[in-house]
Amino acid sequence: MTFRDTIAAIATPPGIGGVGLIRVSGPTAEEIAQRLFRPLPPGYFLSHHLYHGKIIVPTTGAILDEVLIAFLKGPHSYTGEDTLEINCHGGPLILRTVLEAVFLSGARPAERGEFTQRAFLNNRLDLAQAEAVLDIITAKTRPGLAAAIDCLSGKLSEPIEAIRSEMIDLLAGVEASIDFSEDDGVEETPDEALPRIRKLIDKIAALAATHRQGRIYREGIGVVIAGRPNVGKSSLLNRILGEKRAIVTALPGTTRDFIEESVDIGGIPVRLTDTAGLRPPENSIEKEGIDLVWERLETADVVLVLLDGSADFTAEDQELLVKMISRPMIPVLNKCDLPQRLDENSLLGLLPEGTPTAIRISAKYGDGLDRLTAALRDLVLATPAEESPQAMIAHLHQKTALEKAATGLARAGEGLLVGLAPELVALELREALHALGEITGKTTSEELLDRIFANFCIGK
Ligand code: GDP
Repeated sequence: MTFRDTIAAIATPPGIGGVGLIRVSGPTAEEIAQRLFRPLPPGYFLSHHLYHGKIIVPTTGAILDEVLIAFLKGPHSYTGEDTLEINCHGGPLILRTVLEAVFLSGARPAERGEFTQRAFLNNRLDLAQAEAVLDIITAKTRPGLAAAIDCLSGKLSEPIEAIRSEMIDLLAGVEASIDFSEDDGVEETPDEALPRIRKLIDKIAALAATHRQGRIYREGIGVVIAGRPNVGKSSLLNRILGEKRAIVTALPGTTRDFIEESVDIGGIPVRLTDTAGLRPPENSIEKEGIDLVWERLETADVVLVLLDGSADFTAEDQELLVKMISRPMIPVLNKCDLPQRLDENSLLGLLPEGTPTAIRISAKYGDGLDRLTAALRDLVLATPAEESPQAMIAHLHQKTALEKAATGLARAGEGLLVGLAPELVALELREALHALGEITGKTTSEELLDRIFANFCIGK
């Protein structure tokens, strides 16, 4: 696809930095370089070469900045179009000034994600890979990043394409039986087709099942620490923050009522929340605060129920455990460095039936913290810690598309079994194919494409 207009944007984040990059993509990229860059190379700009010089105001010759520029001749560029990359000094005003000169020379401001959208429309990337670009930029942990890089290099697109190609084969067989009579012997018989359909459904289901893990690595989980006052909730939060890598991202939705921090626990981005101590409220303000904690516990992905191992088990401990029993939770016995009043045996009798094994820790000295984080990881991922994530479905619309494809295939299989007209079986297969194509962008609606690329930043 060729676009008639040339787009430009600052590709580096706002603020002061060593260098700032302006990216220009489209048919007039080279012309813009010729207008703005001095000294001009003799002849033309060689593709993929770096030129040192000045950006000038074309009408007056005034120097705007000293830069390095590279001209990338399409299709050998990110967007697949002629591209100009201008490395300016990294200040907001200088970047703005040079960008304005680029606009005056004929480019227009790029929309969010428009460079990647052009790369997609020019077949430089499929949709799953384009989404992986965004996941790479926003990755919060190493496993999340590794999964996104795998996806960019085709680890998700390849199995999807393999399944699609098998489905096209199957469809061709079914369609052949529309065009020929039974005597021609080209009909797709249920005996041959059904096992193939079942195998495809299994493959699709296996991919869809990776969504849980993919989502966790991409979006992270919310873990709430709850317990009576003084059991060591703040100490535990601080201990985890001190030992685990803190994720430096602004947290949207952080409320003033809770202390919330982001950490990397075993590769999972975790929003860790410390809550007010649960006890019978003494006044209406405290009651409001405690009600908020209960609400928060209902929506947490995991609740760490903190008990004080050096103290007696109380009615509040019991109430919290009973209320949390149906939620994903881990009982944690803190203060294991002190003489213990809650031993394993008495504890077993006190905890409601079905409570996972309690983990002993000392928030003060750090004992047992690794066991706690391993238990958290196991509970969330339900997979052994050493299993590395591969070809994961990170986005909900990808999972939905897989489920639609599996449903279409299952209907086609049933149709074959009951001797449905091949036209109708073919229809189901076509729908399944269409659903699968939404992941790689072969059949994705404009609306979904717009929604996906709107998540990108300007300049990407
Ligand atoms: P919170 O009210 O549940 O947030 O409890 P804090 O974290 O404020 O801790 C209450 C008291 O228990 C403080 O004096 C902490 O130093 C102490 N504490 C917390 N964890 C431990 C622990 O593992 N061992 C010991 N000995 N004291 C602890």
